[in-house]
Amino acid sequence: MTNMMRAWVVSDPRPIDQSPLTLVERPMPIPARGEVLVRVHACGVCRTDLHLAEGELAPRGSGVIPGHEVVGEIVQLGEGANRFRAGDRVGIAWLRHTCGVCRWCRTGRENLCPQSRYTGWDADGGYAEFAVVPEVFAYRVPASFADEQAAPLLCAGIIGYRSLLRAQLPPGGRLGIYGFGASAHLTAQVAIAQGAEVHVLTRGHEARELARQLGAASVGGPFDPAPVPLDAAIIFAPAGELVPLALESLGPSGTLALAGIHMSDIPALDYQRHLFRERSVCTVTSNTRRDGEEFLVLAQRLGVQVTTTPVPFEHADLALRDLAAGRVRGAAVLTMTS
Ligand SMILES: [Zn+2]
Ligand SMILES: [Zn+2]
Repeated sequence: MTNMMRAWVVSDPRPIDQSPLTLVERPMPIPARGEVLVRVHACGVCRTDLHLAEGELAPRGSGVIPGHEVVGEIVQLGEGANRFRAGDRVGIAWLRHTCGVCRWCRTGRENLCPQSRYTGWDADGGYAEFAVVPEVFAYRVPASFADEQAAPLLCAGIIGYRSLLRAQLPPGGRLGIYGFGASAHLTAQVAIAQGAEVHVLTRGHEARELARQLGAASVGGPFDPAPVPLDAAIIFAPAGELVPLALESLGPSGTLALAGIHMSDIPALDYQRHLFRERSVCTVTSNTRRDGEEFLVLAQRLGVQVTTTPVPFEHADLALRDLAAGRVRGAAVLTMTS
């Protein structure tokens, strides 16, 4: 007899208002060698899940379970798994496999490994009652965060942290943040705690209010010029039209980091207006396990406050609609009720 669980799956990607997610019964996963089985307590809702549901991220196999910000409790160890014990609280994040031997893996850049595999895309994720993960890609979750608060740290937090590193903000520098959702609200706190002056440019009254509360030096609309020349900027919104605007707000030698996995088309750039004076643009691709470990330690040490909008597991589809419409304050998190 197979134990069954409830899970949300994406079978046929389409616009979110046409309900691409379906709640189904699935056999519980069985941990393979080196894997652990986790009972999901909470799973964050990431914009990548929305891209997957809508087909902007080409599905890798039909019927995948999304969700890569999973916090739960280990209930079973696969053969040879010995890093954790049953009952331990762990996090499951986006990156779940790398080859370990390619030039990228061997030089601390496993996020670029061509063999990399991802939770909730290549393999089933956490929009489910149970999930499995290779133990070497699981994280210990800092005790100071409750399940619901810890979940968004696992992608929004880690990717935001890597974006901040990629943006090469000088100490005490001025950072522009475009878009202020789950990832941005965590990244802003890390930057501010490290002495940065943070300027937030975003739509949505609630997002702006949150930015002010968290200590932003200024808050404006996404299409406003930054009030001061920026040393670095990060675009979290998937909107390519923001790229020229952000570049224009950078001072000499400034870096613009694009944090998303998907972005709409970027308009033509003008060399003088947008790039000359040694401005640069870079992208952020996934993260290494080291980024993850570093960020989780930092988040606990700096006392990062995670603003969440809890959503019952049964309403995952509504959570994605709210995210698409910009109606989420902080990070939406699916919580298990039963
Ligand atoms: Zn994500
Ligand atoms: Zn590799």
